[in-house]
Amino acid sequence: MSLLSVIVPCYNEEAAIPFFYEEMKKTEEQFAARFSGVEFEYVFIDDGSKDATVEVIKKLREEDKRIHFVSFSRNFGKEAALYAGLSKAAGDYVVCMDADLQDPPQLLADMYAAVTQEGYDSAATRRVTRKGEPKIRSFFARMFYRIMNRISDIEFVDGARDYRIMSRKMTDAILELGENNRFTKGIYSWVGFSTKWIEFENVERVAGETKWSFFGLLRYSFEAILGFSTAPLSFVITLGFIVTVFAFVLIIFIVIKTLLYGDPTSGWPSMICIVVFFAGTQLLCTGIVGAYLGKTYLETKNRPIFIAREEE
Ligand code: UDP
Ligand code: MG
Repeated sequence: MSLLSVIVPCYNEEAAIPFFYEEMKKTEEQFAARFSGVEFEYVFIDDGSKDATVEVIKKLREEDKRIHFVSFSRNFGKEAALYAGLSKAAGDYVVCMDADLQDPPQLLADMYAAVTQEGYDSAATRRVTRKGEPKIRSFFARMFYRIMNRISDIEFVDGARDYRIMSRKMTDAILELGENNRFTKGIYSWVGFSTKWIEFENVERVAGETKWSFFGLLRYSFEAILGFSTAPLSFVITLGFIVTVFAFVLIIFIVIKTLLYGDPTSGWPSMICIVVFFAGTQLLCTGIVGAYLGKTYLETKNRPIFIAREEE
């Protein structure tokens, strides 16, 4: 016997959840035909939804006691929802899936086989196409992965989803990372363990709409950089060093020039340019340092990652 926990973060997903549940029933049949002794458990996380998401979940629970849920006191974000789900899940294996069926349930059996029969600790999925997504969003997403891989020690896989099945060991490792600034893709990668990658073509969401705006994603990428790389701080040091050397050379040049040719008053505009330029770089560098300091400040408060209003 083995228990598989399915974690589903939901924010305003009243329309999508019934479709999701129906699809999962088919997946369970698929499992019954292929494996023996697999039991399912569902952990829905209502991330402070403003629609009837929690009622829809409760209704499902009336008929199916394998369904559990945590309802947040407000919107804490998908990362917090995933954490809540992982801590509530009791399964020997745990899988995180979106409610909108963009994480195809048909892949689940192969993922399960990878962790139970092929010796992997985890099986993860990545989209190889971004069909149906705005072009500009795809472009920035690609660029983000390229930059992240360059400035961070851990691996970021382009198109990787949060859709991933994990062994109990890996789940517990993730739960040990109690940081507030949670970039789940980075955390998955940071804890290590062997991972099998399964590829699929992008699927559009079944109902409802995406919670991501362009600026939301931009902010998310800054979270990732601040959480998993200190490269911007090294950049500040390098820049500071270069500018200092440059200034030093400039001083020597000007002193010598003044000694040789006297000091007619000129170059006022260029001086202003230099002053403004350095004021700008200083602000930028202080800002970068401040961003890290801000994160540190928030982490030291040690606030809980989420607050539950209701839980069953
Ligand atoms: N989600 C969440 N909290 C949020 C935003 C999203 O729990 O604040 C959930 C959402 O309900 C869905 C999953 O995270 O199940 C992915 O969200 P979405 O489909 O909007 O993202 P996309 O697939 O467009 O990247
Ligand atoms: Mg989606």
